[in-house]
Amino acid sequence: MRILVVGSGGREHALCWAIAASPLCDHLYCAPGNAGIADVAECVEVKAEDLDGLVSFAQNNAIDFVVVGPEAPLVAGLVDKLDAAGIKAFGPNAAAAQLEGSKAFTKGICDRHGIPTAAYARFTDLEAAKDYVTQQGAPIVIKADGLAAGKGVTVAQSVNEAISALEDAMSDKAFGAAGEEVVIEECLVGEEASFFALCDGKTALPLVAAQDHKAVGEGDTGPNTGGMGAYSPAPVMDEAMIGRVMEEIVQPTVDGMAAEGMPFKGVLFAGLMITADGPKLIEHNVRFGDPECEVLMVRLMSDLLPALIASADGQLDQITLRWRDETALCVVLASKGYPGSYEKNTLIAELPKDSDTVTTFHAGTARTDKGVLLATGGRVLVVTARGGSVSEAQKRAYESVGKVNWSNGFCRKDIGWRAVARESQV
Ligand code: AMP
Repeated sequence: MRILVVGSGGREHALCWAIAASPLCDHLYCAPGNAGIADVAECVEVKAEDLDGLVSFAQNNAIDFVVVGPEAPLVAGLVDKLDAAGIKAFGPNAAAAQLEGSKAFTKGICDRHGIPTAAYARFTDLEAAKDYVTQQGAPIVIKADGLAAGKGVTVAQSVNEAISALEDAMSDKAFGAAGEEVVIEECLVGEEASFFALCDGKTALPLVAAQDHKAVGEGDTGPNTGGMGAYSPAPVMDEAMIGRVMEEIVQPTVDGMAAEGMPFKGVLFAGLMITADGPKLIEHNVRFGDPECEVLMVRLMSDLLPALIASADGQLDQITLRWRDETALCVVLASKGYPGSYEKNTLIAELPKDSDTVTTFHAGTARTDKGVLLATGGRVLVVTARGGSVSEAQKRAYESVGKVNWSNGFCRKDIGWRAVARESQV
């Protein structure tokens, strides 16, 4: 088969790495890809947002199957356009991608199909939203309705902070049209985890759970980022909890979307809070997480590609996946200054060699004509290791991080700290 992966991050490197290993894959393209992806796929200069360019590329290059990594082209309707051109793709169409594209849409699905989530109210009027916040009190969570690249959520510890978040979104338009409507939510208390399931419109095939570190600073402090590291499995997600999440959240979402005429195909990434009352949905995403995808891919023992195709074909009931009974942990190296402003095109002089247990995925990297490796983005490298325990995976990951020679890079030194602490208590 001739496959095209869309995207350019660590997630897409991990997907390409897994797909390239499939006996079903004859030729792998990635648009636009990065310097690490170029080792396993042919990178083509079409941006992930250029929907028409992607469709023409797929048509002109006899692509059999397209795997869409990021959310923006899914929400914008890439899968619909590919479908109209007769090209099979992994991922939801625009209607089903509303599960990530609109927080208010997902809240409606939760209401109508009995899915546990935080209590909420929706507002398009700033004054009404301020009155509601004043009446509810803090802590309280303010969310821009639409896609805001992970930055549209404020967990406000005071009414003043909540009001200023409302003003940012609704009158200062910090998130553009995405913040014209806001969802105001009850603040949930518990431990967060992410759970992933492949869906084909009716069947949901559970994958595994992961936990990530969003904050830039050690001890989970400082501003939020796209993710500074992750590990899988997630200790809070034992078999019983996975069973509850599938039964109370994932399957009702898949059934509800089908019943409302918007069957969901692709990967459903449920962001969860494990509260004293059980699992509650914080948000749905309609693609793999980044960096969660990296830890999932190194744990997966089965061929990924047939599972992605079965998701598109409505045949997931035929698929069984096997996972390594090990922990995978990844550490993100980012450009100094990230998530604020940072210098671009700094030199990465040396990388660790991949081994059976350690793989370095690339995110924002490029190579010059002379083969020199440059850091071109905020998040740049994702060093991913497996081990028999969280501590072992963590030790291996940081040993390899130590071999990266990139003076403008930094990483958190404590990825997995909660899980390591839990392990040392046993
Ligand atoms: P989201 O973009 O919806 O995943 O939100 C980003 C982060 O905000 C989540 O990972 C949580 O840490 C936090 N968050 C979102 N909603 C809530 C909530 N209702 N209660 C507590 N924390 C929340």
